[in-house]
Amino acid sequence: MESVIVAIDGPSGTGKSSTSKAVASALGLSYLDTGAQYRAITWWMITNGIDVADPDAIASASGKPVIESGTDPSAPTITVDGLDASGPIREQDVTSKVSAVSAVPEVRTRITELQRSIAKAAEKGIVVEGRDIGTTVLPDADLKIFLTASPEARAARRSGEIKGSDLTTTREALIKRDAADSSRKTSPLAKADDAVEVDTTDLTLPQVIECVVTLVEEKRAAK
Ligand code: C5P
Repeated sequence: MESVIVAIDGPSGTGKSSTSKAVASALGLSYLDTGAQYRAITWWMITNGIDVADPDAIASASGKPVIESGTDPSAPTITVDGLDASGPIREQDVTSKVSAVSAVPEVRTRITELQRSIAKAAEKGIVVEGRDIGTTVLPDADLKIFLTASPEARAARRSGEIKGSDLTTTREALIKRDAADSSRKTSPLAKADDAVEVDTTDLTLPQVIECVVTLVEEKRAAK
């Protein structure tokens, strides 16, 4: 079977992670959550006392943390300097600061290189999810998917995932993060011209997975 590279981009709450993991598992591919890498470097900045409002300080420190991602879709892992970061990177403090850290060009260069080397090493192929995978990280991906959903649907999904969260607050935080991610200068959240857009607002997760699996199988058959 030919190796295949799949890029899945889109804003938060569109079902990117669940879809990407399930598609990778169904097709025997590796899986990379690039948002987890940006969260991991943000967590390192916070725990090492770097002022996340100071892009120069972030840029100077950006080469220091050692970030490693495990790419098994059934048990993805993320470590920073050898420490398991999977819990802390989902904390509110990291979520509210990650857009500022990931907007710093030095951070993006470093993480993009890491992502490309992981994709290159995946023998059977890989599903890589993020914001700029189809446009910047892997512009030659075999298949590019751009997931969208209404802000209401996205906020409802996210607040279902976060214990005790309020829908209006979640919706506002999500819109703010998307606006920051879409308006930054270096590789913003964007749909690649050759990406297939899938609006997940009225689709169930199994329907989205089936749709993407079919698209990958068609690409593989045509290779
Ligand atoms: O996907 P997730 O919500 O975990 O991503 C967290 C943040 O990481 C995003 O809001 C964005 O600031 C950053 N990110 C990015 N480029 C990517 C993936 C994530 O800038 N490819």
